[in-house]
Amino acid sequence: MQQFQQYIDGAFSDGAAQFESKDPATGQPWALMPEARAEDVNRAVNAAERAFLDPEWTNMTATQRGKLLLRLSDLIAENAPRLAEFETRDTGKIIRETSAQIAYVAEYYRYYAGLADKIEGAFLPIDKPDMQVWLRREPVGVVAAVVPWNSQLFLSAVKIGPALAAGCTVVLKASEEGPAPMLEFARIFDQAGFPKGVLNIITGFGPDCGSVLTSHPKVAHVAFTGGPETARHIVRNSANNLASTSLELGGKSPFIVFEDADLDSAVNAQVSGIFAATGQSCVAGSRLVIQRSIKDEFLARLKEKAGNVVIGSPQDMATEVGPLCTLRQRDRALDLIDRSVAQGARLVIGGQVPEGAGYFFPPTILDCTDAPDAPCVTNEFFGPVLSVLSFETEAEALAIANDTQFGLASGLFTRDLTRAHRMMRGIRAGIVWVNTYRAVSPIVPFGGFGLSGHGREGGVEAALEYTKTKAVWLRTSDDPIPDPFVMR
Ligand code: NAD
Repeated sequence: MQQFQQYIDGAFSDGAAQFESKDPATGQPWALMPEARAEDVNRAVNAAERAFLDPEWTNMTATQRGKLLLRLSDLIAENAPRLAEFETRDTGKIIRETSAQIAYVAEYYRYYAGLADKIEGAFLPIDKPDMQVWLRREPVGVVAAVVPWNSQLFLSAVKIGPALAAGCTVVLKASEEGPAPMLEFARIFDQAGFPKGVLNIITGFGPDCGSVLTSHPKVAHVAFTGGPETARHIVRNSANNLASTSLELGGKSPFIVFEDADLDSAVNAQVSGIFAATGQSCVAGSRLVIQRSIKDEFLARLKEKAGNVVIGSPQDMATEVGPLCTLRQRDRALDLIDRSVAQGARLVIGGQVPEGAGYFFPPTILDCTDAPDAPCVTNEFFGPVLSVLSFETEAEALAIANDTQFGLASGLFTRDLTRAHRMMRGIRAGIVWVNTYRAVSPIVPFGGFGLSGHGREGGVEAALEYTKTKAVWLRTSDDPIPDPFVMR
């Protein structure tokens, strides 16, 4: 079996223990992973703190940090096919998607490379004649970055990129469900020329590793992506170190289609929104909200597409839907479907586990017209399962769209410009895609409302999350300081 190592203080080592990682396409173990426990976490945080205070890093100009990030971006672009293979092997995400996504991850590092020397302070028009006051933007310190198993290279790029651009140092905890791409990424990062300890990459389990890391007294900021339940642990952990947090959590995003929409486009976007990445995407358009007049036609088209999706080995470029990452995910999907059908949801297609090895699950559609409160409508699946709801009026569409505790993404299909404007204002979510879906860019902030979390990743805003302002007051008068008992 292939063996991986953790990356601490610029060196590769074994963890306190080891665990087996399974190939989701076969259900069989294929690699041994280093399991970090408290002693490894401490070593990683200490290395990050030492690096954060080291003049080699603190005296480096922002432009130089940018150049290192640029070098990293080039290395990722060169090694993208290799990184994609590791992500596909360890998480089951199809190679068609990992190859494209990881090539684009290089662009995220390029964006933050360019941004490093554009993080500016401010000069304030102070209301006192003998003072000059300015704000410096300084890095917050050691960042703990914690990511889930889906799209780890992408979800870590939106943390590592802005954090290093801002001058922070990072300990990244890769997911225990498929850490291979991040441990391989460590080898690439090592070639970029950053000082030792600036980035440390470990993996391990929630209680023994994630919890120790996010509550560590030397951690200043926790950048977390994962589920809302784990996020509650993170917030509780941060009571120990009073670290700031940014939380990118799940979603139950509405995909709203009006009768005047370009239906060919809307059907394709819905397929991409829920079946691409085998539905294991936080922005999955998992609630189709469709105008009643076109519901039957739209569902018929969708059913046909869903039935023709190519399910197969994630390593095969022709595959469109691969396995789920874990058996737990599949059991959860089956349970949610069973409970929803018992409450009156109608299975349009899918819902059955295919025979054979691996954690495969077919594209599934549930018509929830008679069960609008079924568990499939309210819970995130993280699987290729679509719940369908219908509406008559625009107001009804908006009410259904907003009837969720989440608020990450949304899709809106209509040719009516004024309606699009009204709807995009009314939808409570961090992203509104109009006549498109699942588009991302390093230039655009990404994040949610409500239970989908807070903080933004991507764009200039994200880099500022890794900084604090320092107000500097300089008195310009040579006169003695007047009355010491009066505040100036
Ligand atoms: P998860 O919350 O179970 O785990 C995420 C990470 O947290 C893992 O690395 C895990 O080891 C760690 N963790 C677990 N317990 C911890 C603890 N007590 N303290 C610190 N760390 C701990 O999530 P998952 O099941 O791996 O991933 C799926 C979830 O991630 C979904 O809810 C999905 O919507 C969400 N997600 C969100 C986004 C986004 O950008 N908004 C993107 C992708 C995934």
